[in-house]
Amino acid sequence: MRVTSRLLGRIRGGVHPPGNKDFSADAAIRELAAPSTIIIPMHQHIGAPCTPRVKKGDEVYVGTVIGDSDSYVSAPVHSSVSGVVIQVAPQAHPTGGEVLAVLIDNDGEYLGDPSLAVPGPWEDMEADEIRQGVRDAGMVGLGGAAFPTHVKLSPPREHPIDTVILNGAECEPFLTSDYRLMLEQPEAVLEGLRIIMRAAGAARGIVAIEDNKPQALKVMAMANRGGGIEVTPVATRYPQGAEKVLIASLLGREVPSGGLPMHVGVVVNNAGTAHAIARYFSTGMPLVERVVTVTGSVVREPSNLMVRIGTSFSAAIEACGWFTEPPGKVLMGGPMMGLAQYTLDVPVIKGTSGILALSRGETEYSIPSEPVCIRCGRCVDACPMGLIPTYLASYAYSEKWDAAARLNIEDCFECGCCTYSCPTKNPLVQLIKTGKKELARRKKRLESQASKVAASGREGEGGNG
Ligand code: SF4
Ligand code: SF4
Repeated sequence: MRVTSRLLGRIRGGVHPPGNKDFSADAAIRELAAPSTIIIPMHQHIGAPCTPRVKKGDEVYVGTVIGDSDSYVSAPVHSSVSGVVIQVAPQAHPTGGEVLAVLIDNDGEYLGDPSLAVPGPWEDMEADEIRQGVRDAGMVGLGGAAFPTHVKLSPPREHPIDTVILNGAECEPFLTSDYRLMLEQPEAVLEGLRIIMRAAGAARGIVAIEDNKPQALKVMAMANRGGGIEVTPVATRYPQGAEKVLIASLLGREVPSGGLPMHVGVVVNNAGTAHAIARYFSTGMPLVERVVTVTGSVVREPSNLMVRIGTSFSAAIEACGWFTEPPGKVLMGGPMMGLAQYTLDVPVIKGTSGILALSRGETEYSIPSEPVCIRCGRCVDACPMGLIPTYLASYAYSEKWDAAARLNIEDCFECGCCTYSCPTKNPLVQLIKTGKKELARRKKRLESQASKVAASGREGEGGNG
């Protein structure tokens, strides 16, 4: 058994919201039967959306590639059932708006695609081959951010990776999907970490688990065979599981403003992602399902479900006995970073770690129509990135984009600690998100203008020649 006895992971800022894990922590993962129609969006990750590779009437199998992209920052999507494509059309998406999706009539047979093969063994594969396998399998971060995993595992030569941190903190209240995976399948989670370490070329692996999960710490430590891997308790404080926070609290390394974990020699992956990678290398089955915690005060039977990607939220909630009373709000994810849903006819995607339903009483509070700041400084104390949320929100509200950029608004990873701690209920993170989006839009526009100017310059040069 290898477990670090010293408690690490004291973090800058952060908050301590009620954990509310008891709703579902003891519920063993159970398989959810897929509904008769599956909706698989072509955009389920950070980066370029996929282009459909199937059309109406095509037969598909479990694991058939139904969408892919030539862009590097992207990941293919696969069918999670066998059956026939009935439509390729825009559909409601849990992150908002509509996204092109492939609708499949599920034949209930769950036949695997004949082209699938077990790769490896990974121990004999080169790092490049493992990364290609991870891409082919459509792996993205399953903690919610959904960043394509093969990109994370491909640092440039000048940024070698020495440590992989496996994020088992699951600091977001209510969610227990990683906790259950670590309890029920610790060997697969650790196997996934070993595969990631090999792909990243790292000698050291750290499994970080908040100290409010002693059972998971014990089980993971018992299953650990060493080989450079430590299982480490970290202090329970939100947002301990954010990658920059984990790196600082475990290794004392500060990711520079605008930088990535690779810039300080680290890759961070989620426990669920490691489990999915191990499963792919042992079965050849790409990412077609994931564990989803369906929970909250108004869910009749809070559960941890293994759900096929493309299953509707309503089917997942139905499998948990539906609601005990009409919910005030349903979120994808937890209460701190989750996204409110306006319909339950949206599909579970790769980034759906949880479906949370809260009562009307829990969600009825008034938000001021414009920010009211009493200069208490609580949001500043709570920000784990050392930002000044009150100024960032105020600049976003008054559209002072340059001022917001100067205060590093782009370093905000939208944890919500500032909003949570604000006594006047200012919608700080919501305003900051709007500001980030606007700055990203302006940056893109400037880049496109610059490339047009460069192209017309080249045409001019060609004409003179
Ligand atoms: S400014 Fe961003 S990073 Fe800082 S507390 Fe608010 S949401 Fe979190
Ligand atoms: S916590 Fe709210 S009231 Fe206090 S400084 Fe920040 S924005 Fe102002």
